[in-house]
Formats: sequence, C-alpha cells, structure tokens
Amino acid sequence: METTMQLIYTEKERCRVCYTCVRDCPAKAIRIHNGQAEVIAERCIGCGNCVKVCSQNAKHVYNSIPEVLSLLENSSNTAAIIAPSFPAEFPDYEPEQVVSMIRALGFRFVNEVAFGADLVAEQYRQLIKENPEKRYIATTCPALVTYVRKYHPSLVPYLAPIVSPMIATARALRQKYGHDLTIIFIGPCFAKKSEAQWEQTGNEVDGVLTFAELRQLLELKGINSKDVSPDDFDPPYPDLGMIFPVTRGLVQTSRLSDNILEGEVIATDGKMNFVQAIKEFEKGELQTRLLEVLCCTGCIMGPGFSKENSYFSRRTAVSKYADQRLKINRERQSEERIQEISAINLNILFKAENLEDPLPTKEEIETVLRRMGKEKPEDELDCGACGYETCREHAVAILKGLAESEMCLPYTIDRLKTSLHELNVSHEQLASTRQALINAEKLASMGQLSAGIAHEINNPLGVILLYAKTMLEDCPKDSEEYLDLVMIVEQAERCKNIVSGLLNFARKNKVNLKPTKVRDLIDRCLKAILKPENIQIKVEHHLQDQSVELDEGQIIQVLTNLINNAIEAMPEGGTIRIKTLDQNNEWQIIVEDEGNGIPEHILPKIFEPLFTTKKEGKGTGLGLAVAYGIIKMHHGKIDVWSNADSAKGPTGTKFTITLPKQGSWQTLLNGNKN
Ligand code: ADP
Ligand code: MG
Repeated sequence: METTMQLIYTEKERCRVCYTCVRDCPAKAIRIHNGQAEVIAERCIGCGNCVKVCSQNAKHVYNSIPEVLSLLENSSNTAAIIAPSFPAEFPDYEPEQVVSMIRALGFRFVNEVAFGADLVAEQYRQLIKENPEKRYIATTCPALVTYVRKYHPSLVPYLAPIVSPMIATARALRQKYGHDLTIIFIGPCFAKKSEAQWEQTGNEVDGVLTFAELRQLLELKGINSKDVSPDDFDPPYPDLGMIFPVTRGLVQTSRLSDNILEGEVIATDGKMNFVQAIKEFEKGELQTRLLEVLCCTGCIMGPGFSKENSYFSRRTAVSKYADQRLKINRERQSEERIQEISAINLNILFKAENLEDPLPTKEEIETVLRRMGKEKPEDELDCGACGYETCREHAVAILKGLAESEMCLPYTIDRLKTSLHELNVSHEQLASTRQALINAEKLASMGQLSAGIAHEINNPLGVILLYAKTMLEDCPKDSEEYLDLVMIVEQAERCKNIVSGLLNFARKNKVNLKPTKVRDLIDRCLKAILKPENIQIKVEHHLQDQSVELDEGQIIQVLTNLINNAIEAMPEGGTIRIKTLDQNNEWQIIVEDEGNGIPEHILPKIFEPLFTTKKEGKGTGLGLAVAYGIIKMHHGKIDVWSNADSAKGPTGTKFTITLPKQGSWQTLLNGNKN
C-alpha cells in the first residue's frame, strides 16, 4: 500500500461539530472523536467536498507552497503545467498575462494540460473502439479513481487503463525535454496532490499547486500583471482538450459520440450523483460503454479555486478561451502534434486497495442502537442530524470507530433531560447538606459557648455543694430541714452533671450510653420540674419495651428544656402531654402543649443558639440548641410542629424526638466507626 498523505485536515479551534462535513463526505472519511471532526487520511479520496461545505473554514488542504518554492530554488529546468480550467480562475487577466506571471516565478516552460487532455481523449476513443464488448469507468478524476480503489475494489478492472491529462502532459514534456525536468501542476483540484504521489505515477509530477496557492505564491513573490509583458504558452499546443473541464468534456474532446451510439456514454458529476452512478454501474443497472464521473461539480467547480464564481461564468470563460485559441493552435502545430501523440505511452494499471472492513453483525448494530435509546424500529428516526442517512448507518460508523453516539440529536436531547433531572436532585441534596452543615456549625459554636458558661458555673456550684453537704452532715435526720437539704444536694449534683456534660459536649461531643428504663427517666425528670399549679402534665406510655440505651443526664436535660418551654408558652395554664411510643428499631418521645405556638417565620430559627423571643433575663435561647445537639449526638432527630394562628385551629406546639433503640444504636455506632 502506498503511503498516505494527510491531504485535508481540521483546524480544531474552528470546528463547531455541525456534522456537515460528515454528511457531505462521500467516502465517510470523517471521524468524530472527542467532539472533533477528523479527516482520516487512509479513507479520504481528496474530493474536497468537506472543505467547500465547512461554513467555519475549519478544513484546510495540505500546503504545497514551501515544497514548490524549494523545487524552484533548486532547479532551473522547471515546467509549470496548468489545468485547462485556468481561464475560469483568471477572468481578470489575459491568458498571456497569466503565462508571463507564472514564468516570472522562475519556470522555464509554461504548458497547457489541455494538450494532455487531447492525448488522453484520443486514447479513450481508441480504447472504446478496440474493445466493443467492454464497459469502462473513465479515470480522469483522481478522487474517483481513489474512491473506486478503496470502496468498490470489484470495479477496479473496469477503470480505464489510461493516465490523467496531468500525467499525459508530464510524460509528453519529459519525452520532449528529458527526465530531469521538474514539473509542477497547477489546477483546481486537491486530489491531484495525492495523484502526484500514487505508486504508479509517483515520479512524474514533482509538485501540485491549487489555483489559490498560485495566487498566494504570486503575491508572496510580488509578481504583478502590470510588471510583466504578455507571453504565450510553450508548445505543444492543445486542441479540443481546452474544453475538457466542462462536464461531458471527455465526450466532446474525444469525439466519442461520433463513434459510438448516443446514450452509451454517461457523464455525471457531483457528490450524490457519482456515488449513485458507481453503485448502479456495480449492480450492472447502468448500461453504458463509458461512465465518466467527476467527484465534484466538474473541474471548473473544483475546490482549489481562489474565490467563488458561478458555474456558468466559469464555463463561459473556458469556452471563450477555447474558441479564441482553437483556430490559431490548429494552424501552428498540427504535424508536430500527431507525432507526439503516437509516441507517448499513456497506460496505467490500477490496483485495488480494499478498505472496507466486514460489516458488523445485526446483533452488534442493534446493541449500539439500544445504547442510543432506540429499542424499537419506530425509535429509528433516520433524521440525518448526525450526518448519516439512517440510524443504522450511524450505528455501523460507531462500531467502526468513526462516529460517537453523542452525534445522535434525539439521544443527546434525552441525555440532557436526564442530566438536568439529576442536576436538580443533586441540587436538592446539596441544599439539605448545606442545612445540615449550618446546623453543625451552630452546634460547634454552641459547644464553645457552653464550655465558657460551664466553666464559670462550675466553681460556684462546687461551693454550693460543699456547704450543702456540710450542713447535711450536721443536720439531724428527723428534722424538717433534712429533706430540703437532701433536695439541694441532689439538684446541685444534677447541675454539676449538666455542667460537666456541657464541658464534655464542648470537648468531645460524646455521650455516655447506659441501659435506661424510659418510665423511670421521665419520672425523675418530672420530679425536678417546678410546675405552676395551672399546668397539668399527662404521661402516656405506649412503649412495648421500656429499656433503651441513652445518656440519661443528657436526655433529662432535653426533656426539661422542652417541658420548661411548654410551661412558659402557657402563662394562662393548660396541659402538657408526654407520650412515648416505638416503631421497629426506633422509639419516640413526644412533648405537646396547648400554648401560644410558634409563628411560622420564627420556626426555622428556634434551634439557633441564643435565639429567644423571651424577655431579657427570662430566656437564654440555649434550651433548644442544647436539645438539638444532644439528640444529634444520639443519632436521633428532633421535629417540631406548631400552630400559632387560632384561626387555623387550636394553638400549641409538638416536639417529637426520635431515637434509635439499642440494636440499631449498636449498628449505627459500628457503622460510624468505619
Ligand atoms: P428560650 O426558652 O431561652 O427562649 P429555647 O431555645 O428554649 O430558648 O427556645 C427558643 C425559642 O423557641 C423560644 O424563645 C420560643 O420563642 C420558642 N419556643 C420554644 N418552645 C416553644 C413552645 N413550646 N411554645 C412556643 N414557643 C416555643
Ligand atoms: Mg427554653
């Protein structure tokens, strides 16, 4: 296999991945990789369609200017051979001006490839005449030859074994001026750059410039039409080959229609037509002696022109030039020409270069389709947005590594919707995590605060205890004061516990779990509460199993805080209901009052440390913050429901504490350790 040059490439920064090039590439030589359109050199036929259709000008063709400059520097024996479509590129100049400008670049000879077209046309005429039973595909278009060699190898034997006008011209010149002649072709075609490197024709043309590159080179060298005196082409001069670039050119050039029946030669061009024509020729549906196909819209619409011009203006320019020249040329060289023609070898033998890998299996295709959410035949929309005509073609391209599933618009929209949904979900999760973080932060600041307070209280509390205990020792057991003193010592001990609990909480956030009977815990808690007479406390136990594991001191503190809040919320009196119940691995304690309730706008703040609605000296704003922290440390939760609007129903507040029971508590602890 010959080495493949990267003829066309993508400027990644400009590629906006619109898939237009994928759609317009007849060879499916464009791979979408990481969202970028790459031209695969091995698959590319050089037709230049992708360059033409790219609205972002992201596709570029191999730049031959440096190469040609160095060839010109290193050799004085050089010939420029210019394609017959040149009048369409230079409508602003006289042909003689074009010739002398090219000469000014340093070329010794400037020749017309139209002469080679004449040689080739004559050869076709003979081929058709001498092989009446055979069918041929014309090989004047290098992109078409590559297309057949790579994608329709079974048609290679049908490729007419005749070189292109470019090679024919080069062979004629080498015969005339010797083999060390350096030959540069100038034309409208990208694929000529590859043809110049084909295995069969590799040494025949040394460089290829597009018309656009020729203009750049003239500008680079500061060559102006005004500074040069008009000059004519070098012989040999062309005949009808001058009209070769217009469609059906070969037919007219070789006067084939004079020799064989009209309709037996089919000439077509353009991306869609040529693919179709080759397919039909392969199937044998196209009954023609000669199929002349061009991959672009004829050479005068080739991609190597420097600017956009209409087809008809270009056609007119070429025809006008041929018309002016034909008579002159015929007069000045007929004898010489005929001799040249008969002596030049125009043969070439093409080889297949089969690129098509075996098609993926039906199962493989269906797996890919399913991955794109196409479960049923009706899911295959064949919308073409991906650049492939059908969903199946797209799936095949994915399997060949040429395409990506993201190219499927319906699939991508679907995925976007899913991502959007997922984003919303994670947004919600983020919000709740944020809330938890805020609470944790509050807890931390509360820890610091409580540590400070606890420290301050510890000392006076010690003094109270010391004195109370001394007095208790001196007090006779049957005296009236004795029980009061016991109460003082007991309560002062509890205070000490709370304070040391606070200190612990601040330092380590640790709970001291012990098996506890809920009923006893509540009894002890209620005993210590100073309850006004207009308040009743009703306790209901619905717990199946009374024994749970908890830090008694801390939970009593929580309940005391809740009950005190409830009392303070009912200055007119009322009932406080305490209920215990259990559910699976959790148990709950509910403290409910009939007080004035908590207004809705306050509700989110009640657990904040130092938040209070009570008069100065009355509330500290610590009760619920401490309760919240303790419950969290027990891996439980505290919920609040409240109604402060009597229009909506009876007012009151209900705190529900949910705590894990022993079993789940253990698993939780173990779980937390990991
Ligand atoms: P404090 O009792 O020192 O104000 P808390 O943290 O115990 O601090 O309570 C914070 C606030 O929550 C109270 O000031 C009160 O506005 C509101 N609150 C708490 N419990 C109740 C309740 N049972 N009824 C009405 N409001 C309550
Ligand atoms: Mg309180």
